[in-house]
Amino acid sequence: MAHDSLHHQQTLLKRPASPSFEGMEESSRKRQKEHVPDEVPGQEPSANVVDQEPVIDGGALVNGLAEELQCGCCAALVYRPVIVSPCQHFFCGSCCVQWIRNGGTNCPSCRGVSNIVTPFRALQPILDTLLLAAPHMSRTERERAQADELYKGGSSMRLPSPRSASPEPNINQSTEYARPCPHCSPDNAFGWSCPIPVSDPNTDVEHAWPVEDGLPPGHQHCGNCENLTAVQAPSTTKCDFCQVYFCGIEVQGRCVAAPLSTQSPHGMSDVGDLIQSADVYDCFDGNTVEVEIMLDYLTAQGITPRHIYREIVTHLQSQPGGFRPLIDLELFVDNHNVSPGVDPDPNAPRNRICRLCASEILLWGLRDWWVRERQKGFLEEDVMARKDCAEGQACPRQKDLDNHMIAPRPTDAANVSEAPPTNETDEASAQPPANILTPLPPISGLLQHL
Ligand SMILES: [Zn+2]
Ligand SMILES: [Zn+2]
Ligand SMILES: [Zn+2]
Ligand SMILES: [Zn+2]
Ligand SMILES: [Zn+2]
Ligand SMILES: [Zn+2]
Repeated sequence: MAHDSLHHQQTLLKRPASPSFEGMEESSRKRQKEHVPDEVPGQEPSANVVDQEPVIDGGALVNGLAEELQCGCCAALVYRPVIVSPCQHFFCGSCCVQWIRNGGTNCPSCRGVSNIVTPFRALQPILDTLLLAAPHMSRTERERAQADELYKGGSSMRLPSPRSASPEPNINQSTEYARPCPHCSPDNAFGWSCPIPVSDPNTDVEHAWPVEDGLPPGHQHCGNCENLTAVQAPSTTKCDFCQVYFCGIEVQGRCVAAPLSTQSPHGMSDVGDLIQSADVYDCFDGNTVEVEIMLDYLTAQGITPRHIYREIVTHLQSQPGGFRPLIDLELFVDNHNVSPGVDPDPNAPRNRICRLCASEILLWGLRDWWVRERQKGFLEEDVMARKDCAEGQACPRQKDLDNHMIAPRPTDAANVSEAPPTNETDEASAQPPANILTPLPPISGLLQHL
């Protein structure tokens, strides 16, 4: 792997990179050592210059470097590099954004769990120097612009971990028998014991619970860690939206259905997460101009996704139907790998929520939240001057900069289908709005507003 051998150079690269290429020469020598069977008797080693002024083969150096500096995703010379912690694999920032948008989790190269991806600043001067020596290796202007639309450089991002991180693998773990829950042992540290405990298959196979018999009585699987969870344990919570149970023990802050107002939507801790979420663009039916305006507003005002989530919740609670429309849309069904409990009563109050359901609510309500938010009039005048289009989200010209703004969601879905076709929708059907669903955000619609 090209980038694996670079790991040895991390310490070199982390020094302020000098144009002398000290580290790179070493790498180049190392490569020659790997590839040239040197010290073969009777054969003159090609680059064995001992007592003379060292001669550097520029072409070989450039090619060797380019090979080492390949992106682990696209295999081209890395562009605006970012580095994954802790495995230190590196990629184009744009490749990494795309990986995340396409639902990728963990490091794209080694699939290791990662917490943060940061700009690989130390690599940039080396790339610059390489491209100065070999301009033919640079990307075309168009390729660069495409990559820049995804990642402009300088910012960090997070690689999501799989939605349901499995517990530490236990090598001795039998897959035939259920693993007891933390409360099954009568002398557990949690101050509550299961009335019908599950026997530990490692110590009492005879009484162990075969997995094929389904769930042992009084137990469910935690929606986050997927461990067996005692339904009645004081630490156990249940999401009133997806009806899934959470153990409250394994992963702090994640294995929990929290009160509505204190939960955080999954995978959306800051505006940066929204920027990288394809779902956010989907909320606006690909109206990327509007998304950019909103994201800029959020950044300027310091508004977090969690704050938006809470405002959406408050708004929904003030509506006569409450959360019912979202539940009827089955928004909260099948988000977890574990089977849910039953919804005791569709009209029961919804008090607790899990992180995944919170992000469903955020995404469901984001667009309408933004419509309400911009009515508060905090936006720049020229942005406010963008008018609502009567066609709303059906309009093929949503992205027009001068006169198009999103319109509120139609109050009744039936109204939309029964509405008589207007000239604009006729146009729309004759000319499919190919641009609207483009997966890339515009270079920056916002810049044109400022
Ligand atoms: Zn790449
Ligand atoms: Zn990796
Ligand atoms: Zn138990
Ligand atoms: Zn759990
Ligand atoms: Zn839930
Ligand atoms: Zn329109």
